Amino acid sequence: MSVGGDQAIGIDVGGTKINAFRVSRDGTIVERSSAPTPADDEDETMASMVELARSLATPEVLAVGVGAAGLVDAGEGVLRFAPNLAWRNLPIAQRMRDALGLPCQVDNDASMGAYGEFRFGAGRGYRHLLFVTVGTGIGGGIVADGRLFRGAHGFAAEIGHIIVEPGGPPCGCGNRGCWEQVAAGRAIGRMGREAVVDHPHSILWRLAEGAPAKVTGKLVTEAALQNDEVAVGIVAEAGRRLGEGIAGLVNILDPQVVIVGGGVIVAGDLLLDPARASFQEAVEGPEYRPRVPIVPAQLGNDAGAVGAATVALEELGRVMA
Ligand SMILES: [Zn+2]
Repeated sequence: MSVGGDQAIGIDVGGTKINAFRVSRDGTIVERSSAPTPADDEDETMASMVELARSLATPEVLAVGVGAAGLVDAGEGVLRFAPNLAWRNLPIAQRMRDALGLPCQVDNDASMGAYGEFRFGAGRGYRHLLFVTVGTGIGGGIVADGRLFRGAHGFAAEIGHIIVEPGGPPCGCGNRGCWEQVAAGRAIGRMGREAVVDHPHSILWRLAEGAPAKVTGKLVTEAALQNDEVAVGIVAEAGRRLGEGIAGLVNILDPQVVIVGGGVIVAGDLLLDPARASFQEAVEGPEYRPRVPIVPAQLGNDAGAVGAATVALEELGRVMA
């Protein structure tokens, strides 16, 4: 179709940071750039995305792909609702096209992470995968029969907001007891703050300088990696809740593999082994189905932007074909 190595700009807009990469068709990151997210200001966030994209645009760049947290109307390129950000009905694709004169595809950020892992990471060689990203909350992405599954409106795979504990901890989406409130970073932090009171002089207590309010999910994970018994138990509890949720999703989707990414994955098998165990107990007919491996993601924080660039290039190919 064209000469000189097709490239796209992939932008991953997170709650705290915007990652923007220039990516070639084979998934290589040619150039990277980033900026903090002004999370409570839509216009500033858009301006920052445009500026990053401009700084990366070269004649090789054919398209822009954006992954944004929340409900993204992928057909229209509009971010409808972001539970943890102030954004409502933000026409990202239109604004990027107007500013850059390039086609722009917008999807959910975790879906873009899933696609990045599918094409260039832990999902290579599979056609059916579930991607679960565990950070402060939980995001998801689904690849079914080799294609990104977006649902009717682009809203599919918002797996963090399945209610697993009615009346449980409140969630940014307005409900209570969502999966992401009991199995991700916020839950780990909450359990840590509760537990540290009864365990003075633990590693966790020392890391928090004796102040329970200073305990975060990240700190608990750090303590767990230093073999703090209380922290290991908390990460394991989150892992068990994670595995139970994954079992429900595997019952629906029947993937070949489950890839777990996101910040909490630094805990490694401290999180994943309990998840695998509870998954195996909770999934339907475990002894009558092929084992579904639960594996860590490989692309880390790069997955979203690489996936977004790749999807943008592939959409372009489909439009032109
Ligand atoms: Zn929720």
